[in-house]
Amino acid sequence: MSKRSELEKQGYKTYENDEIEVFWNPTVCQHAAKCVQGNGDVFNTQRRPWIDVSKASAKEIAAVIDQCPSGALQYEIKNPVVIEFQESCCRSAALKDGKVIGKCEYRPSGPSWMITHTIVNPEFGGQGIAKRLVEKIIEEARAGKIRIIPFCPYARKMMAGKEEYKDVLE
Ligand code: SF4
Repeated sequence: MSKRSELEKQGYKTYENDEIEVFWNPTVCQHAAKCVQGNGDVFNTQRRPWIDVSKASAKEIAAVIDQCPSGALQYEIKNPVVIEFQESCCRSAALKDGKVIGKCEYRPSGPSWMITHTIVNPEFGGQGIAKRLVEKIIEEARAGKIRIIPFCPYARKMMAGKEEYKDVLE
C-alpha cells in the first residue's frame, strides 16, 4: 500500500503538485505552528486551503515538514532524483524518470581518479544534485582505497579545505 493510501486511511488530507505530496491530519496537529513559522506562504491558516504546495520547492516544503513535532504533517517526494555509480562509463549519473539529468565524470589516473567534469541540467539546479554526484564518486573511491584528484572546478571548490574529504584527496 502506498504511503498516500495508508495516511488517507488514517484521516490525512492530501495536497500535491508534480514534485511532492503533502499530508496533514488535523486530529494529530498540536498547533505548535512550526509550519507557519517555517514558511508562511505554503502554510497559512488564514487561507483555504491552508496548505499551498505551489508556493515553494519540494525541498523547502520537506525541510519545514521535518520540523513538525507531532507527525500531523508528512510528505512524499515524487519521482526522486536517483544517483547511480556507472563504473563502465567512469561516472556517476543523476536519473529522473530513467533519464540522465546530470553527471560527474572521472578519468583513472595511475592509482587515482581525476574528476574531470560535473554538470546538471539547469532545470534541476539548486537541489544539491551536483554535490551528490561528486559524493557518489568519493564514496566509491573511498571504498576502493582510491585517491581523488578534483580537476573539475566544481569538485575542487567543494572539496578544498574540507576535513571530511581529506582522506581521499590526492
Ligand atoms: S508544525 Fe505540525 S503540529 Fe505544528 S501546527 Fe504545523 S502541522 Fe500542526
